[in-house]
Amino acid sequence: MYDVIVVGGGNAACAAAVSARENGAKRVVLLEKAPKEQRGGNTHFSGAIFRFVFNKVEELDRFVPQVEEEYPGFHAGVPKYPREAFREDLMRVTEGRSDPELADLLIDASYDTTCWMQDVGKHKFELARSVMGIKVGNQYKWPRGAIVRTVHEGVGLSSTWFKTVEAMGIEIRYEAHVLELTQSESGRIDGVVVRGTDGVRKLNAKAVVLACGGFETNPEWRTRYLGQEWAHAKVRGSNFNYGDGLRMALDMGAMPWGHWGGCHATPIVSDAPDYGVRNLTDKTNRLSYHYGVMLNVEGKRWIDEGADMNAFTYAKYGGLILKQTKGRVYQIFDSKVLDLLEPRYKTSEPFKSDTLEGLLKQLDIDQKQAMKTLQEYNNAAERGGPFNPAVLDHLSTEGIEPAKTNWAQKLDKPPFYSWAVTGGITFTFGGLKINKEAQVISTGWKPIEGLYAAGEMVGGLFHYNYALGTGLMSGSVFGRIAGRSAARS
Ligand SMILES: Cc1cc2nc3c(=O)[nH]c(=O)nc-3n(C[C@H](O)[C@H](O)[C@H](O)COP(=O)(O)OP(=O)(O)OC[C@H]3O[C@@H](n4cnc5c(N)ncnc54)[C@H](O)[C@@H]3O)c2cc1C
Repeated sequence: MYDVIVVGGGNAACAAAVSARENGAKRVVLLEKAPKEQRGGNTHFSGAIFRFVFNKVEELDRFVPQVEEEYPGFHAGVPKYPREAFREDLMRVTEGRSDPELADLLIDASYDTTCWMQDVGKHKFELARSVMGIKVGNQYKWPRGAIVRTVHEGVGLSSTWFKTVEAMGIEIRYEAHVLELTQSESGRIDGVVVRGTDGVRKLNAKAVVLACGGFETNPEWRTRYLGQEWAHAKVRGSNFNYGDGLRMALDMGAMPWGHWGGCHATPIVSDAPDYGVRNLTDKTNRLSYHYGVMLNVEGKRWIDEGADMNAFTYAKYGGLILKQTKGRVYQIFDSKVLDLLEPRYKTSEPFKSDTLEGLLKQLDIDQKQAMKTLQEYNNAAERGGPFNPAVLDHLSTEGIEPAKTNWAQKLDKPPFYSWAVTGGITFTFGGLKINKEAQVISTGWKPIEGLYAAGEMVGGLFHYNYALGTGLMSGSVFGRIAGRSAARS
């Protein structure tokens, strides 16, 4: 008999297992469906950037102590990120729909939980310069809220979690495919049925934490909940997240919560593999589109590339790209902005030419329309400004649809470059309803005794869109709460 069974092997599961142990649970087991060499879920593939509140920049010092020496002017240049700013960002991108109770919990616990990850989880942090740092002249500028990541990104995050889990005496079983939850006559969840290397077994526990991800890998559920265009979507991360935990919980009467028709999906190179590749992790992302334009195969611009900082548009634009013909668009840049493209662009060869015509000729695109679009764009561009890559600079177009409302420089400095991109799915937004203790709520609006959930499985936080760095923060916050609640139940 275990005190706590944790299902999953990603950030949320590890946080829950560590927290359960820390809060007095003696026998804790973590059941990971994947074999050891494929463990860690999406967490392994992640950029490991965490969005959290800091009321003064000095609160970052414990994570990045040498920062002022490395980046002179850092403390003066970084905008603080109070709870109101996090809340405003989350509510803006989710069109006001983020579950207010969960959002407040997440935001209020975000700093303290990141400190807990450092102190108890033993994680090491660094500035996420390659993705979040914007070089202006000789200085780096930083956007608000999400600028710190764990060292070695998701690979480091996942391996450190497993080290800590092991060091705390928590049992880990790999290739442990949890099939269903079991309940006692009283209706309390009292264990799981798991298919492992030794066959199918029932494991009993006082409490179960489900932290086994969303359904992004599952083409049947994607088609069912997200729509036809998602049938062939490339999966950016783990190929183990089939919605197993969601199904098991729904079978026990759990309440579906949040945006089941929504997901996080980003622009990635169009010939990316079907699932995440462990040593490539998140390098297929192509997120600097706000400094250029995006043309669909009909040769048209179809969206405001500069609607917001890319940290607040990238998770939505992947899905919108997938809805374009062939699920493909072309990002086009001129040489003025080449240094601003994030380093991940270097991991694939772009199309390149000294003329826009020469560039378009290489693309599978309506040539005539594409040239017309670029000419119209160039004629309409560079109203307002001046260009400033680090803030919403209001350098915009005038008189074309769709407008580009920021960073709308002309494409006029050869050579010109293009990357073909598609939309890759990251994780799904639909999940379970939980309360402040991370207890799963039933469709009878009552907690299901003995059952807790965390991570991608939690519904309600994200709708339509997402603010970069919030997924891992949510997994850590609710994983920690779920583990603590399960240990005390
Ligand atoms: C390429 C990429 C980059 C990302 N970058 C960031 C970032 O920088 N910042 C950020 O905040 N978020 C990022 N994310 C999102 C973030 O990775 C996820 O939100 C987070 O890892 C989810 O954690 P989780 O523990 O809920 O799920 P996961 O980490 O996906 O873990 C789910 C686990 O459950 C296991 N499992 C599934 N079914 C079963 C079963 N039946 N039985 C047992 N185990 C099961 C899986 O094997 C896996 O170990 C990124 C995601 C990807 C894919």
